[in-house]
Amino acid sequence: MNSRRQVVELLVVGAGPAGMAAACIAAEAGRRVALLDNSPWVGGQIWRGQQAHPAKAAARRWIERLSRSGAGVFTGATAFAAPAPRSLLAETPTGVLDFAWQKLILATGARELFIPFPGWTLPGVLGPGGLLAMSKAGWPVTGKRVVLAGTGPLLLAVADGLKQQGAQVSLVAEQAPRAKVVRFGLGLWRQPGKLIQGLGVKARLLGVPYRCGCWPVKAEGADHVQRVTLTDGARAWNEDCDYLACGFHLVPNVELPLLLGCELRAGAVRVNEFQETTAPNVFCAGEPTGIGGADCALVEGRIAGLAAAGLTRQASALFGQRASWHRFRDALNGAFSLRPELRQLAAADTAVCRCEDVRREALRSFDNWRAAKLHTRCGMGACQGRTCGAATQFLFGWDNVSVRPPVFPVGALVGAETTLNNNAMPPTTKPPV
Ligand SMILES: Cc1cc2nc3c(=O)[nH]c(=O)nc-3n(C[C@H](O)[C@H](O)[C@H](O)COP(=O)(O)OP(=O)(O)OC[C@H]3O[C@@H](n4cnc5c(N)ncnc54)[C@H](O)[C@@H]3O)c2cc1C
Repeated sequence: MNSRRQVVELLVVGAGPAGMAAACIAAEAGRRVALLDNSPWVGGQIWRGQQAHPAKAAARRWIERLSRSGAGVFTGATAFAAPAPRSLLAETPTGVLDFAWQKLILATGARELFIPFPGWTLPGVLGPGGLLAMSKAGWPVTGKRVVLAGTGPLLLAVADGLKQQGAQVSLVAEQAPRAKVVRFGLGLWRQPGKLIQGLGVKARLLGVPYRCGCWPVKAEGADHVQRVTLTDGARAWNEDCDYLACGFHLVPNVELPLLLGCELRAGAVRVNEFQETTAPNVFCAGEPTGIGGADCALVEGRIAGLAAAGLTRQASALFGQRASWHRFRDALNGAFSLRPELRQLAAADTAVCRCEDVRREALRSFDNWRAAKLHTRCGMGACQGRTCGAATQFLFGWDNVSVRPPVFPVGALVGAETTLNNNAMPPTTKPPV
C-alpha cells in the first residue's frame, strides 16, 4: 500500500464543532495543525453544508475562522488505522495519507442508536438524523407523511427540519415519560440559548402532536413502510406513514479512541480536566466523551486545542463553562434514558445484525459479544458492528470494546501487503507541540 507522509504537530480527527474549535485554536496559537473528516464538508453532523443558512451563525463563524486559522483541512479523509506509534493512516479520494503527529485530538462525534423491533429493517424506516441529512442533500420529502419515534431532543430538531423541507410530520413519539421531559424543559432556564432555541422549534411545530411515554412496536408495509404500531404501555394504535424516522438517542464513536489505546468509562472516552485521554498525547473532545450537544462539544474542543498547544492556563479559564454544559449533558441523558420495555421489542425472528442477517433467536444462547460474533457473525458485516454492537449492548448488556483495524471499510487495502498493527501507544514523555 502506497501512502504519502504528512508531518504535523497536531492532528485533529473529526471536523464537527469539537474538532473545528480545537484545530482553529491550536493553529491560531501557531501550531502546525491538520484537521481531517470523512465527509466532503466540515461542520460535523449538525453544521455540515449549513454555513449558508441564516440560522447557523455559529456554524458560519467557526467555518470562516477555520479557513483563516492556517490549519490544513482534509475532507473526504477517513482515519482507519494506527500502524505505528504517532502515526495515523487516512484514506482520501487521491490515496492514503500517513500522518506523523506529535499530539492527536480525537473528535469523532456520535451516531444514532437503533433498537431492533419487528419491521425496523423495512425500506423507509431510517434514523431521524439520517433522514434529515438525506433530505438536506436533495432526497424529496415534500408531502411525505413522516412519523418520528424514539427519544431525545434530536426528534424535535429533525421534525422541524423535515417540516421546513415540506414533509407532513404526523407525530413525534417520545419514549421518555412526560414528567421527565417537562422537568428537563423547565431546567433549560440555566441555558437561555437552548431555551430560546427549544421555544422556537416548538413554535414552528405548532399543530404537530408531540406525545411522551410512547414507542414503536412494529413497522409494516409490502416493500416499503406503510404504517407503524405504537404503544403507550396500555394500548396500541397504528399510524400510517411514508417514512418512520426512529432513533433512540446517540452513542459515542469510540472505535478510533479504542484503537489508540484510550480507556473508556461508561461507554465514553475517559478524559482528565484538559481533555487528555489515558493514552499519552492523545486528547478527546465532543461526543466521544459523552452526548452533550454542540455547545458542550465546542467548549471541550477549545479546551483540548489549548491544552494540546500547551496553553493550559487559557484552557483552565474555560473549565467553568464546560462544567455548566456538563450539567446540561447529565440532565439530558437522565431525562431521555431508555425504558426497560424497549429490551423486549425484538421478536425471535427480528434481525439484530442487519448486515449478516442474525436474528435475536440466534443470539439467545450467548452471554457475550465475542462468542456471539464468533459463532453467528453478528457484527462482522459492512458496518463492523456499529449498529448491532450498540444494540446488543442495550439489549443484553454485552461489553463490546474490542476493535481491530481498519476501523472503517477502506478500498486502499485491497491487494495491499501491509500489517495494520493494533497500535499500543508506548509510555513516552510528552514532547512540546
Ligand atoms: C446523524 C446525526 C444527526 C444530527 N443532527 C442534528 C441536528 O439536526 N441538530 C442538532 O442540534 N444536533 C444534531 N445532532 C447532534 C449533533 O451533531 C452533536 O451534538 C454535535 O455535532 C457534536 O459535535 P462533535 O464535534 O462532537 O461531533 P460531530 O458533529 O458528530 O463531528 C464528528 C465528525 O467526525 C467525523 N469522523 C468520525 N470518525 C472519523 C474518522 N475515523 N475519520 C474521519 N472523520 C471521522 C464524522 O464524520 C463527523 O463529521 C446529530 C447527530 C447525529 C449523529
